[in-house]
Amino acid sequence: MKLLVKSIKQLVQTIHRRKSCVPETNYISLRNFDEVLDVGGKCVVPGLIDGHTHPVWSGDRVHEFAMKLAGATYLEIHQAGGGINFTVAKTKEAEEQLLLDLFLNRVSRMMRSGTTLVECKSGYGLEWETEFKMLRVLEAAKALTPVKISSTYCAAHSVPQGKTPEEAADDIVMKQIPALQSEMQAGRLGVDSIDVFCEKGVYELEDTKRILLAGRNIGLRMNFHGDELHPLGGGELGGGIGAEAISHLEQLSEAGIQKMAASGTCAVLLPTTALALQLPHPPVRKMIQAGIPVALGSDFNPNAFCLSMIKSKPVSIFVKWENLIYQLGMADDLIAAVIIAGQVVHRKQATAKSETGLREACEVPLIVLRGLLMHDAVEPAARGFSSVRSLTLAPLVGQLQSIHDESVRF
Ligand SMILES: [Zn+2]
Repeated sequence: MKLLVKSIKQLVQTIHRRKSCVPETNYISLRNFDEVLDVGGKCVVPGLIDGHTHPVWSGDRVHEFAMKLAGATYLEIHQAGGGINFTVAKTKEAEEQLLLDLFLNRVSRMMRSGTTLVECKSGYGLEWETEFKMLRVLEAAKALTPVKISSTYCAAHSVPQGKTPEEAADDIVMKQIPALQSEMQAGRLGVDSIDVFCEKGVYELEDTKRILLAGRNIGLRMNFHGDELHPLGGGELGGGIGAEAISHLEQLSEAGIQKMAASGTCAVLLPTTALALQLPHPPVRKMIQAGIPVALGSDFNPNAFCLSMIKSKPVSIFVKWENLIYQLGMADDLIAAVIIAGQVVHRKQATAKSETGLREACEVPLIVLRGLLMHDAVEPAARGFSSVRSLTLAPLVGQLQSIHDESVRF
């Protein structure tokens, strides 16, 4: 279907080799189109891609927010029966249908905030039976929501109670990954990436490496949590083994920056988590200057409840906040939320440097913002997303550019 979107006040697109994907003419015959969408002078931007979420779980932990505000530490919350073990227990006992309903509700709220493709991790089962259930929920949801889903197997999210990290890594490498491989080979699961929570006292470097490489052996992309709370050397590890992406990186070292830049490993930054946990800021400008592709993610999870890449508040507030923390400009911000995040979750095994991979990764729907210009853009127009979601922007590589036009053809 060919759709004409007219009355665009500002179109934000990317250019590739100085070529725009939009023909530079103001005069187009309406007869060439199946449908015309009048956006009433609004701003059109590529759909946002959320590069990091934990959206399949049961068991609300809102009560923990109150505990934290009252001064409880992470350890005290754990001792009171909270934390990730609470979510693991509730997710384990939840019916699959309940998990699916909860997920679909969350993803529809993400969609209303402009997210068109989302990376979704398992990781509240830790053992195979529940991890498999979570991955089945994501698989079923792919046919039930217009938002594209990229699944990540994340059994190494935490060490299960009663096990050492080494025992847990053994279970993942020797039992769970072979089981996952046979489900994928049988066509019952489509999983794109493997993730490990690489952290001091959880999965340290050796266990992380072992699990990631076992995942890569069955064709998964290596996309893991690293250098969040301690400078453990996650950047050096990920760069050294050619990981596709590392999330968090608040404690990334100089050597880690160099390794990641050399291997083309993407950085996935999670500003809401950094803010909620009052973590130091990752060295964003240094990463960009070194040539590391920088993406953004909401890190939606029961402990950091953010469903929106641009929040439900005006994006300008978010952008100011982003600027304050990370010194990301408006264009950097959108590139991070669209192009690089697309690289992180890209499912066709394209390398970060592959032009074809980038182009495919960037084929996202357009969204219509309520604001007239990108700079005062607010939440996406409710109708906009569903109306234009079948569109793709291609080829889209390179820097963002905005143009003003009366009517624009795709
Ligand atoms: Zn995470």
